[in-house]
Amino acid sequence: MRTREIHVITERWYFYCLDCLQPYETTYEAQHADDGHGGDAVAWRRDGMAIQPPWIDPTCPGCRGLHVKVLPHGRSHVPRQR
Ligand SMILES: [Zn+2]
Repeated sequence: MRTREIHVITERWYFYCLDCLQPYETTYEAQHADDGHGGDAVAWRRDGMAIQPPWIDPTCPGCRGLHVKVLPHGRSHVPRQR
């Protein structure tokens, strides 16, 4: 019998707004949970709120523009601060 394990990984994602031409970054919490079938279910959170995955409909915090590009190689894992 296995216990259900949840790993919380803080990830920093980088975006570039095509409306105001400003780069920005946002930190997300990815909760990786074993779904009990050998798979990996991920729940995304920010500021304690359940949110869509970062690549779904990103909105620019500066101009609220929806033409936001995810920078694919800017993704990095952030050591969790205690
Ligand atoms: Zn913008």
